[in-house]
Order: sequence, then structure tokens, then C-alpha cells
Amino acid sequence: MILFSQIKDILSDRRRETTESLAREAQALTEQYFGRTISLYAPIYISNYCSSWCTYCGFHSHNRIQRFKLTAEEMRREMSFLAGEGIENALILTGESYNLTPPSYLKEAVGIAREFFPSVSLEVHPMTTAEYRDLFEEGVDGITVYQETYDRKRYAQVHLTGTKADYDFRYGTPERAAQGGVRSIAMGILLGLSEVAQDLTALYAHLRSMEKRFPGVEYSVSFPRLKPIKGKDFASCPVDDVTFLKIICLTRLLFPRVGINLSTREGMRLRDNCLGLGVTRMSAGSNTSVGGYTLRSPEEQDPQFDVEDRRRVAEIVEKLKARNFDPVLTDWRRIPNGVTLP
Ligand code: SF4
Repeated sequence: MILFSQIKDILSDRRRETTESLAREAQALTEQYFGRTISLYAPIYISNYCSSWCTYCGFHSHNRIQRFKLTAEEMRREMSFLAGEGIENALILTGESYNLTPPSYLKEAVGIAREFFPSVSLEVHPMTTAEYRDLFEEGVDGITVYQETYDRKRYAQVHLTGTKADYDFRYGTPERAAQGGVRSIAMGILLGLSEVAQDLTALYAHLRSMEKRFPGVEYSVSFPRLKPIKGKDFASCPVDDVTFLKIICLTRLLFPRVGINLSTREGMRLRDNCLGLGVTRMSAGSNTSVGGYTLRSPEEQDPQFDVEDRRRVAEIVEKLKARNFDPVLTDWRRIPNGVTLP
């Protein structure tokens, strides 16, 4: 396993040839394992209620913002719009409120989403194994859960109250999701919160241990960068573009088969530059407000973070084709993850 000191050295090496050599190797491995395919997905926010207080997030429980939670009819409208844009892989998101968006509400959302999308994933509050099993049986394919930072001290400084303040419960979430039968699990860190080499080393160790224990799960990783909310910057350890690209390349070298996701938090230019270097999945046409596609204008509410790449799905598809990539809207087949369910 690569050591913290090696990762630190690679990330802090500013020589152009180091970056270029990493990029060449990452590109070759990505083509070998994934060809020139890029899967596309879109987020759909169905609630911004949250009972946790994370200092860097616009949805936190102490922020006086307007709160919304979509009804079944509103979800249908949003989902129908996204499906009309060509999206077949939807990521349903909420803030983390177990009381206001309980598993029963999520189950209803998944049931509706399955009317529109062949593949449905969730990025919501962490749950128990039994709850994941229930959601898997309802049709959930994937779970996204980021540890944000693996530095316990820093974790406690930025996660002040609520379920998210429980480091260990969050750390165990990928394992509980796998035990619940979930086929695809996305893990990650929020770049900008803590010292990056340390966090990256810990993420790699967490991922490696998951791969060993649940080899039937399909893993992916994400490296969202802490973004300003309404212009206010929260990053205490900012990660520049070159370091960001190196993180993607390094991850590809160490985990040739693991998917790498890239969201519209990043700007159009950087996203286009990442193509071929390791990224295998991108969000497209994203809106990070509740009901933001069809129900309310973004000005009416506070998004979780500011979207940088505002291109519509069709524009991204065209861009990918022009660069000789194959945009994939569904690469999905419902298969078990190898865990025997009771
Ligand atoms: S990061 Fe998640 S848990 Fe934390 S405040 Fe935002 S929505 Fe809530």
C-alpha cells in the first residue's frame, strides 16, 4: 500500500514532468479498463431539511434558509423533466434529517424514481443495515457517502451536532450499505477541509479494506472540492487545479478498476481537462436546489453549493462525442453484490 509520505511527495512535487508522467500512466490505465466511456448522471434534491450542523454546508440546521420537501407529485414532475433531458441514472439527495426524511419517505422517492430511471442511487443520511436492505429491495442500486475528512480532530471541529457528528457511525456506512445488498458504493473526501495527503491516504485504506471484505461491490470515489456558498469561502486547506488533477491520476494508478466521479462543482474547463485522465462518471445538467429543475427558480432558495458547470445534458453529450468519448446514460444491470441476504 502506498504510504502517506509517498502521496505527500507526489502531491507536493511541482515539476511539470511529474504531472505529465502521472497523467500519461493514468490515461493508459483508464483506457485499458474503461475504454473511452463516460457515464452520466444527474442529482435530484428532494429535501433540504437537515438536523446536522456542518459548518461548511448551506443546508446546516442552524442556517435560516427556506426549507422544502417535495411531495410525491412534485418528485414526479422533477423526475419527469430529468428523464426528458435524457438522464437514466438519478442520484436522489436530501439533507440529513432522519425525522423529516425517514426511510419510508426515501422508499417512496425510490419507487417513484424507478418509474423514470433504470438506475437510482441515494445520497442521504446514513442508515442501518436493515434499512439499506429495505431500500435495496425497493430498487436502490447505489449509495454515496463521503467521510468528508478522516482526521478525527478536524471532523469534530466542522461537524458540530446531529448524526453527522458521529464519526464512527459515518465510517461504518459503506459497510452497512454493502451488508444491505447495495451494488454500488461511492466514497470520498471533501477536499479543502483538512491536509489532503493525510485524508487521501486514509480514504485509500478505507477503500482497500472495503474491497477486500466486499469484493462483489462496485466502488467509485469522488473528490468534491469545498466550494463557496453565496461567495463565502470555507476551505482551510485549498486544493489547486494541478493538485486536483494529480489526485485523480494517482487514484487511477492505485485503483485501476475503481470509478472516479466528477460533479458540476467543478468548472467546465477543468471538467473537460479531466476527461481521459481517470474520470469515469460525470454529473450533467445539475441543479442543487430542491425542486430546482421545474418547481422553483434558484433565486427563491439557497443551494447546497454553487454549481460551476451549467451545461445541459445534451451539450455535455455533444462535447464528449466531439472529443471521441462515448457518453453512457445507462451502464446498468441489476445484479447482486455477492453478500448473502438473510
Ligand atoms: S453536509 Fe449534509 S449533514 Fe451536513 S449540513 Fe449539509 S446536508 Fe446536513
